[in-house]
Amino acid sequence: MSDQFEGFAENVPGKYYITKSCIGCTLCSVIAPEHFMENTDEELPVGHCYVYKQPETTAEGVICEEAMDVCPADAIRNNG
Ligand code: SF4
Repeated sequence: MSDQFEGFAENVPGKYYITKSCIGCTLCSVIAPEHFMENTDEELPVGHCYVYKQPETTAEGVICEEAMDVCPADAIRNNG
């Protein structure tokens, strides 16, 4: 499997994850700030987002799906 399809280690375990194809546009953290967050670790060469809270309700799941749909890098995935 190519690295770009791997999830970042920072993702909390669960259905949604952000892969290394993320370009760091931060759109997902604007749409779903309760679930996606920008990694501000200065050790990393390029900023990216990760999942810090998985959705627990149907409404939260809908908002995560919305972020997934608009991600320009197709970097937000769910494992079904
Ligand atoms: S919307 Fe996609 S490309 Fe943009 S920061 Fe989120 S995961 Fe990365």
